Order: sequence, then C-alpha cells, then structure tokens
Amino acid sequence: MIYILPLLSVFAGYVISLFLKPSSSTVFQLLLSFSGAYLLSVTVFELLPEVYSSGSSEIGIFIMLGLLLQIILEFVSKGVEHGHMHHNDDTGTFPVLLLVSLSLHALLEGFPINHSGHLLHGVVIHKIPVAAILSVFLIRSKISKIKVVLFLTIFGLMTPLGSWLHKNFEVLNPYSVYINAMVIGIFLHVSTTILFESAKNHTFNASKLAIVILGILLAYFI
Ligand SMILES: [Zn+2]
Ligand SMILES: [Zn+2]
Repeated sequence: MIYILPLLSVFAGYVISLFLKPSSSTVFQLLLSFSGAYLLSVTVFELLPEVYSSGSSEIGIFIMLGLLLQIILEFVSKGVEHGHMHHNDDTGTFPVLLLVSLSLHALLEGFPINHSGHLLHGVVIHKIPVAAILSVFLIRSKISKIKVVLFLTIFGLMTPLGSWLHKNFEVLNPYSVYINAMVIGIFLHVSTTILFESAKNHTFNASKLAIVILGILLAYFI
C-alpha cells in the first residue's frame, strides 16, 4: 500500500484534471483546502510529537531547513505543490527543472510514510490536487503525450522510492529523524500556504471553513 497509493494518487489527479478545471472549479478548490487542512493536522498531531520525542536538540533547526528548502523549491515549481497554476508556458520543451524540484519534494515526503498510516493518507490526499494541476500544466505546455506520461510517472515514483530507500538502507536510520523534521518543515510551509491562499481576501466562506474543520477532525479521529 505504501508504494501503490502514492502512485495511484498521481493517476487520480491526472484523471481529475480531465474533468475539472483546477483554476475555476469550486469542487477542486474545496479538495485543495481539505488536503491542506488534513496534511497540516497529521503533521501537527503525529509527525511533530514523534520527532520531538527523539530528544535531539537540533530538531527545530531541521524543521526550519525543510521550510527553507520548500521555499527554494517553489522558485522553480512556482507553487504547484500548494495549488498554483502555471501560465504562458507553451514552449514545447520538457520542463526538467520543474521535474527535479517536484521530485526532490516527493522523494523526501516518502521517507516518514513508513510508520504512519495517517501520514500515508495525508500525502496521498495532498498529491491528488498537485497531480491534477501538474497534468493541466503539462498538457497545456504542448509537450508530447509520451513526455507528459513520462513526467507524471517519474514524479509518481518518487514518493514510493523515498519510502523504499528508508526501508532498505539502514545507513539512513540515524538520520531519519532529521529527514522527518525537514519533511515537517516542508509540510508546514505547503499546508499553511494552501490554507492562506484559499482564504482569498479573507472573505467568509462557509463551505471552505467547513471543509477545513472536517479535514482537521478526520485527521484527529481516524
Ligand atoms: Zn502561492
Ligand atoms: Zn508534497
């Protein structure tokens, strides 16, 4: 499941992108808000206490490093991870840097997945809207169909690869708590940005507020 679900979520995102317009669909915006609330909740409820219980005094530093890394990655990805659309990128060239940026993010988030079912759900739910936005961008960028499939497949394999590396390379074990702390920083940045940007102009939106509360409750109780 650890390996299959993240891959399936990329496929699900691709299928969704064929039916919903991520930029204008209300349903899609709600899905994005839900994913942000759920990911943030799992991070705060489970991942955060776990890394702090390791007793290492450097945890906080690595969380902030992860947050900084995500900010840097978003210079390249322009915020695909938190729901941004790319525009005027129909050059027909394969976006290598975008793939590298998104792959590094996806690889790292595979590491902590092994020991938490909730985190697996959080990452899967978070990947669906990301993959949908990415699919729309790739299809619009006029690169060939094969390259679109290649891009999404490589991107989809990165999270399972991260989980696999964590499981099979014991040399990484002493560092896993620091990698997990960096992933927390990444998740904090991505999820709070989703929640921040989804509250456009801070006008009251009952359905968005409801879906955010639902995300928090589900992460807590399930
Ligand atoms: Zn943004
Ligand atoms: Zn992610």
